[in-house]
Amino acid sequence: MLDLLLPQRCVVCGLRGPQLCDVCLARLPRIEHPLCERCGTPTVWPVRRCRECAGRRLAFASARGAVHYDEAVRAFVAAWKERSLRRLAVAAVSVVLEVMPPPGADVLTFVPPDPDRGLKRGHHPPRQLAEQLAEHWDLPLAGPLRRCRAAKRQRGLSRAERRRNVAGVFAAKGPVPHSIVLVDDVYTSGATANAAASALRKAGARRVEIVTFARVVR
Ligand SMILES: [Zn+2]
Ligand SMILES: [Zn+2]
Repeated sequence: MLDLLLPQRCVVCGLRGPQLCDVCLARLPRIEHPLCERCGTPTVWPVRRCRECAGRRLAFASARGAVHYDEAVRAFVAAWKERSLRRLAVAAVSVVLEVMPPPGADVLTFVPPDPDRGLKRGHHPPRQLAEQLAEHWDLPLAGPLRRCRAAKRQRGLSRAERRRNVAGVFAAKGPVPHSIVLVDDVYTSGATANAAASALRKAGARRVEIVTFARVVR
């Protein structure tokens, strides 16, 4: 309702007009090759494992994000989470499609919302992203994952703490297809993606690929 009454402004630069202006859309910092084949970290040359993921046990086969999680992307994602702006979902999807080739998987699914936070917002960006990507990539959308318990906020936790915080948070209603793309809005430490991929693997998935709109690059 508020969206209809207030003059529209770009959520990144504040310019009057569309919710994301053309200049800011063009400037969202795309993540480009070369990348670590496994975790999607930008690297100097293509590698199969990188400093970021070497020695970590990862339940997913690959992870790929479309844009660097910089200040502009942070503002974009915050607005997308706080206000259910469908046009922001459309913009995010357009950037993912621009950056990533269609995956060769059986189905697409998404990281489910935290029950408390999800209800308050009444919408869920990862689901919006997955729904629209499923349409563009002509893949069925499945919802096998659920949360078994709430997790604390990941913000401010170390990597080991993040991993513990989300361990066992997800469960999948099996059997799930052989090969799955798991969609989320932001990849931070990979702990959430890994816990969700692990639940899918336990329910029978052989290969889980992570696709996110944004990615924190250290
Ligand atoms: Zn702008
Ligand atoms: Zn890596």
